Amino acid sequence: MGNKTKSELVAENSSLRARLAKLESQSPKRSLGKGTQFTKAMAERKRAQQALKDSEVRYRRLFETAKDGILLLNADTGQITDVNPFLVELLGYTRTEFLGKKLWEIGPFKDIAASQIAFRELQKKQYIRYDELPLETKNGRRSDVEFVSNVYQVNGHKVIQCNIRDITERVKAKDTIRKANQDLSLMVTELQKHEREMRLVNRMIDLLQTCKTVDEAHRVIALAAEELFPGQRGGLATMHASGQYLETVAWWGSEPLLESVFSLEDCWAMRRGQLHWVENPGTSVMCRHFVRQPETGYLCLPLVVQGETMGLFCLDAPAENSAEQSSSRNQLVVTIGEGIKVSLSNLKLRDILREQATRDPLTGLFNRRYLHDTLPRELNRALRHNAPMCLAMLDLDHFKHINDTFGHEAGDLLLRELGRALRDNVRKSDIVCRYGGEEFVLVLPDSRLEDGRKHLEKIRTQVKELPVRYGEQLLGTVTVSIGVAQSPEHGLTADDLLRAADEAMYAAKQAGRDCVVAYNNDRLSETG
Ligand code: GH3
Ligand code: MG
Ligand code: MG
Repeated sequence: MGNKTKSELVAENSSLRARLAKLESQSPKRSLGKGTQFTKAMAERKRAQQALKDSEVRYRRLFETAKDGILLLNADTGQITDVNPFLVELLGYTRTEFLGKKLWEIGPFKDIAASQIAFRELQKKQYIRYDELPLETKNGRRSDVEFVSNVYQVNGHKVIQCNIRDITERVKAKDTIRKANQDLSLMVTELQKHEREMRLVNRMIDLLQTCKTVDEAHRVIALAAEELFPGQRGGLATMHASGQYLETVAWWGSEPLLESVFSLEDCWAMRRGQLHWVENPGTSVMCRHFVRQPETGYLCLPLVVQGETMGLFCLDAPAENSAEQSSSRNQLVVTIGEGIKVSLSNLKLRDILREQATRDPLTGLFNRRYLHDTLPRELNRALRHNAPMCLAMLDLDHFKHINDTFGHEAGDLLLRELGRALRDNVRKSDIVCRYGGEEFVLVLPDSRLEDGRKHLEKIRTQVKELPVRYGEQLLGTVTVSIGVAQSPEHGLTADDLLRAADEAMYAAKQAGRDCVVAYNNDRLSETG
């Protein structure tokens, strides 16, 4: 058989057949009467027959042992004339089931119309090739094959030879690689998404750390959440100081998710002190704090710092949502929650410290330090707007006597009561400070001296009528001396104005106490 290919063998076989046919047609006439020529012709014919036989054996052996499927068809009718054992084995149909049928009449070719078109195409073009054709074996297993057909002549008849190579394993390997590539690119996308989210979370935490007020922090959180969860509704609620209910302080998405105020009882996460995740609203217990129920599920995360519940972070689920996506999003929410709660807790602590640093603990009024921080600002504002401003200094009369008579605690009580009376009798824009022991400063923005003096006169009377009880004892009448100065006439700076008011107050003491004295460059005018 040598190294000849299948098609070379087929060609050799058909040429031998042709030679033999030619010899058979020539030999009777030529051999008559010419002995030697006849013997020669006979020998030639025998050799040709032997060569044909050998070629057929070789061809047959190749056909029988080939590791590819081979089908032979009648090119005119499309009927199968031969099939090799490999194809019988590959597809599971018997040789008899193949023979005499058309290509599309046996089971493996599912797409009959396409097979018929391919057959006609083949008749025209003489050659057809499919790199990857799915076939079905008799027992229903799918095999992928490479399918090559060509047409050639045998004894004047057109024959179609189909070579069918099983490439199932190759296709499987290709599919495995394709799948692995898909998984890899999914992983890359996932990683990129994660990286972007972490960048946004870090930026949010950075910004939160530089926020000065909780309002700023709420705004930063809403903007970050909008970017991190596009198309999703969500909200942040913080615990009211009373600890009784929650207030929504930030929201994002197309519309608010949370009611503006709701009770702790309305939220399963707040009740249980842990994340509450609802995947399927139809079959889960739902919180009652929604403006409109989330149809696709949601999660609520309580924000707890050192046992203290700061608030709640709530987010609805996007419409398209796999279990894996949900779990990575829940993780992201937990991470964000950590950042938010620490920042909010720090800001709250900062507020408390600021409050402590600017308030007098006995009376709850602002302290001297606050006044020194605020007064220059208030003065500047008034000067810029050409607005008048009054500053009054109040001092309790004979306070030492109260302490000496009733004790220090009674004195404290009186200071507290006086603080309350002052707070209750000023406008919202006025500033009341405990300036020192029994000295108070009142800043009255947008007040002219005359109006200020009238107002202070009212305060003086009210203090006088203050019924201060210490246990069973009534502390008696309490009076104050008040000095008042105005800006810009009596001073352009905080120190000058305070000095002027103090001088006026001293003048009030001199004048017999229990009176209001306005600062006057030349003389101090007194009322009371
Ligand atoms: P005057 O009418 O001249 O102002 O007399 P006064 O007794 O009020 O003035 P003086 O400055 O002699 O006394 C102020 C007293 O206020 C002395 C101090 O013991 C008392 N005092 C200052 N701070 C406090 C405080 O926080 N609590 C109490 N109970 N007493 C205080
Ligand atoms: Mg004093
Ligand atoms: Mg005094």
